[in-house]
Amino acid sequence: MFDRASVVTPGGVNSPVRAFRAVGGTPRFMVSGTGPYLTDADGREYVDLVCSWGPMILGHSHPEVIAAVQEAVARGTSFGTPGEGEVALAEEIVARIEPVEQVRLVSSGTEATMSAIRLARGFTGRAKVVKFAGCYHGHVDALLAAAGSGLATFGLPDTPGVTGATAGDTVVLPYNDLDAVRAAFAAHPGEIACVITEASPGNMGVVPPADGFNAGLKELCAADGALYISDEVMTGFRTSKAGWYGVDGVRPDLMTFGKVMGGGFPAAAFGGRADVMAHLAPAGPVYQAGTLSGNPVATAAGLAQLRLLDDAAYAKIDAVSAELRTLVGDALTKEGVAHTVSSASNMFSVFFTDQPVRNYEDAKRQEAFRFTAFFHAMLEQGVYLPPSAFESWFVSTAHDERAVERVAAALPAAARAASEATA
Ligand code: PLP
Repeated sequence: MFDRASVVTPGGVNSPVRAFRAVGGTPRFMVSGTGPYLTDADGREYVDLVCSWGPMILGHSHPEVIAAVQEAVARGTSFGTPGEGEVALAEEIVARIEPVEQVRLVSSGTEATMSAIRLARGFTGRAKVVKFAGCYHGHVDALLAAAGSGLATFGLPDTPGVTGATAGDTVVLPYNDLDAVRAAFAAHPGEIACVITEASPGNMGVVPPADGFNAGLKELCAADGALYISDEVMTGFRTSKAGWYGVDGVRPDLMTFGKVMGGGFPAAAFGGRADVMAHLAPAGPVYQAGTLSGNPVATAAGLAQLRLLDDAAYAKIDAVSAELRTLVGDALTKEGVAHTVSSASNMFSVFFTDQPVRNYEDAKRQEAFRFTAFFHAMLEQGVYLPPSAFESWFVSTAHDERAVERVAAALPAAARAASEATA
């Protein structure tokens, strides 16, 4: 299948990390998923610790989500008109996340962050965007700039195809460094439209914000008249009922969502202060649109999933995450492998270093070759981890004792493989 795919699709995949380039080997083509398990085209079953990179928080093929989708599909797949499902999903988001007074639905996290930035620029009449190295906000041109170091470095395009002009208004700063943010505001007074940050980063591995970091961002933005955008595409509806906002309570001006809110379908959103959202077309002049925005099948899936995510569901996910973190840490310790199990609520990842990881530079200092050995040993034993040392692991309400036992059984050999790995 990979050979077939490689003929008709660049690199054989429709999203780069799926290709296993960071770890080598052949990506598994999955044909079905049930609860915490995925089955590949060769009939092998895996405990899934990726959960489609976050969305499958109830596990695969949850009967109530599937039923909601079937019911929606039977009524038609797209109307290109307003519909009740999208209103209900927007109401659910607004009810859960207090700073979101109004929300606009889109189809991907990338669209959400791209639109939020356009809105911030339109609202403030300013051009510059501050982002942090190691934070991923989708493949938005202006946000692919992650290069640069020191204070207030102007972004350099991180990929061919993004022009200097597009990335030139992006200021890339080290994560968890409020002094760098202060210096950027001092260097560009009245020019910064917004600071965008992952609410708690999961795209350089899991690197939570230091105490007071998000609150400091909010304060610095408010003092300068810039907007504080919290990207909750990954953390939203996962790290608590109200996402990371439910954990740290720092009130963003705008927020972005995706993944969990789509129930495995392409649904995402951005929202926040009503006075800012009022600048969006057709209420205001900032244009934004989408043929499939608020799609009835996607919104039905998302709504069914969110309605099942009550306090008990989060308690269960948190408990499974804690159990797995302990098991992984113990196995690596037993084999003498230097590591740090880093977590933010129920999101976690393993850094193969015992030094503190506070930003992307720290994360890159880990011995990633040990992850490669660890990853393949787990895969061989039927545990599907993210195929990169710089990604969060995800669990679901469906990860029961049997699934955890299968992970536990695979860990000793994987920890040994990590310990024996050479660069
Ligand atoms: N923002 C964050 C924090 C993400 O983790 C991602 C995707 O992983 C995105 C934005 C982009 O979302 P999408 O892949 O749906 O475009």
